[in-house]
Amino acid sequence: MDKIAVCPGSFDPVTYGHLDIIQRGTKVFDHIYVAVLNNQSKQPLFSVDERLELLREATDAFANVSIEQHGGLLTDYAKQKNAQVILRGLRAVSDFEYEMKIATANKMLAEDVETFFMMTNSQYSFLSSSTVKEIAQYGANVDQLVPQNVSEALKAKFSR
Ligand code: ADP
Repeated sequence: MDKIAVCPGSFDPVTYGHLDIIQRGTKVFDHIYVAVLNNQSKQPLFSVDERLELLREATDAFANVSIEQHGGLLTDYAKQKNAQVILRGLRAVSDFEYEMKIATANKMLAEDVETFFMMTNSQYSFLSSSTVKEIAQYGANVDQLVPQNVSEALKAKFSR
């Protein structure tokens, strides 16, 4: 049986922190479906289509990664993809409570789907999409935090 994971998130925009989790995940799972969620409680900078495109370009080198959009319950999406695992990254302690809440709810909704957490690479432990956006809006260089296509997309957004 293939080991399949879904890796959900807002990815607004994708950072090297996300890519590190996806890349390490490709060594553990046969296939990873990265699901871009349209989180209603967040005001995104990039549209879902823009986020999908940036992610597709950034993960082009990984043969066993697909990028998709998903709007409904994550557990329904996982079942639809025959995924046994929801893959999430963990940074600081501050991530823990939020992640535990979601993982507990998902376990209640789908008992067979396990949430796996991968510890952040220490290099990226303080990296988030919000930090990147805060820095980029003042025109500062974010090349060490995001791939080149994202850095260019941020420049284009904030030069308008
Ligand atoms: P969400 O809005 O669902 O939290 P994000 O795009 O912020 O979506 O994050 C998606 C996933 O990537 C989450 O599991 C998050 O913890 C993880 N992640 C984000 N940044 C990093 C990072 N720098 N290192 C490790 N994991 C990260």
